[in-house]
Amino acid sequence: MDKMTHDIQELSEATRNFLVKPAKMLIGGKWLDSQEGGTFETINPSDGETIKFVSEGRAADIDLAVGAARKAFDEGPWSRMKPDERERLLHQFADLIEANADELAELEALDNGKAKLIARHVDIALAIDCFRYMAGWPTKLTGETIPLSTPFAPGANFFAYTQREPVGVVGQIIPWNFPILMAAWKLAPALAAGCTVVLKPAEETPLTALRLGELIMEAGFPDGVVNIVPGFGETAGAALAAHQAVDKIAFTGSTEVGKLILQAAAGNLKKVSLELGGKSPTVVFADADMDVAIPGAASAAFFNHGQTCCAGTRLYVEESAFERVVEGVSEVASNMSVGAAFDEGMEIGPLISQKQLDRVHGYIEEGFKEGARATAGGSRIDRPGYFVEPTVMVDTEPNMKVVKEEIFGPVLVAMPFSDPGEIGPLANDTEYGLAASVWSRDINKIHKIVPKIKAGTIWVNCHNTLDSALPFGGYKQSGWGRELGKSALDMYTETKSVCMQIG
Ligand code: ADP
Repeated sequence: MDKMTHDIQELSEATRNFLVKPAKMLIGGKWLDSQEGGTFETINPSDGETIKFVSEGRAADIDLAVGAARKAFDEGPWSRMKPDERERLLHQFADLIEANADELAELEALDNGKAKLIARHVDIALAIDCFRYMAGWPTKLTGETIPLSTPFAPGANFFAYTQREPVGVVGQIIPWNFPILMAAWKLAPALAAGCTVVLKPAEETPLTALRLGELIMEAGFPDGVVNIVPGFGETAGAALAAHQAVDKIAFTGSTEVGKLILQAAAGNLKKVSLELGGKSPTVVFADADMDVAIPGAASAAFFNHGQTCCAGTRLYVEESAFERVVEGVSEVASNMSVGAAFDEGMEIGPLISQKQLDRVHGYIEEGFKEGARATAGGSRIDRPGYFVEPTVMVDTEPNMKVVKEEIFGPVLVAMPFSDPGEIGPLANDTEYGLAASVWSRDINKIHKIVPKIKAGTIWVNCHNTLDSALPFGGYKQSGWGRELGKSALDMYTETKSVCMQIG
């Protein structure tokens, strides 16, 4: 580990202690090396150097983990636990995350490149909240009694009801942009419902998931209830999605991989939920409060260095305000402080990898080639790590790649519109439908626009506002199902109808 990341000096003793331990896989309550003995390196995107080597789970390890999850689901003690015991364990886990939040924030900043303060006060705060919110659900997963008419048996009497049961063993595959938060969105409802889990973190960011694994065991979850297997998508992820003993797969990532997950799941027709890509519109009307809308539109695009599935990357501005808004957003972009995860006041950190940097920069170059112009940014930043300037592009055409495709970096395209009637068709001119935001002071206008946009979340005078109680997911090719809120429990339960003939 001679090329070790220099950010190591910034870290607390707790974080260093975690980092010096071997990073193994959590399977059946034990920390194991991968069966083939392989490891992979996880890299600090702020400087491009190695943080540490992590056991690389492959098909055989996934198989072992699924076996452990199957045993924990089929044999107990987890499955015999009462709802209030699951509630207490989830609270206990949330408390442990809170108690170790500083260390988790450091690990997240190191592994992902986001600012430690953001990791602590956004990602980890939301993750804790998600576990606490979901802890309320085990005691409230009720069915219904249903009056039957049964026309074919007029003289008979029936008593019928539904009950909710956990779907079983769940495979969960998560991305690198919000590692701990995505783990929380997946684990919390699955555990609340009584499922057992095999979680595969993204290969770019395995560290906080592994630390969560330690806290899960410390909280007292029985062995095998949560198994954590780091590894690559094409090996570990594909094996999990295809596994015959997995009852459900929950995936967050690209639309392209979402389609592969679907194919892999077809073998045993496991249930599938998908939270995929987006190219979300931000719509600013001339009557909007520009002091809010301009920084809001910039943050919609650039939060998390643009690596957000619901980022507002297509900015539509009413013609009369176009110049002012583009100028304002470009000024915000040009003044953002670029830096490494541990740099004070950093607003734009690195992209996750060299691959992403090349991809994002490729899109910008392609945009220039096709005739677009940058009013802010447009270049890579020459420093160690994977940095690109926050970029605003104008003079685009609807069929340009920068307008159509998800870039997953800090690149915003801005376009004027003249008639509010255009907004529906413009906003919906995409294969995605994850989110949108509308900025206006006119409540009537807002109510007319909201039903026209085909997206799972529509924010009004805000963007990226997530809440554990509010369902989140996509229309069209942005996914299947809704995470968070009560809807998340629907994805992790089966409904059983019970029909009794009575005397
Ligand atoms: P990105 O392109 O942004 O890395 P991906 O959709 O490729 O996003 O990755 C999201 C998650 O999906 C990661 O955990 C990754 O390992 C996993 N993954 C990638 N390819 C596959 C695959 N073929 N089968 C299952 N999981 C995969």
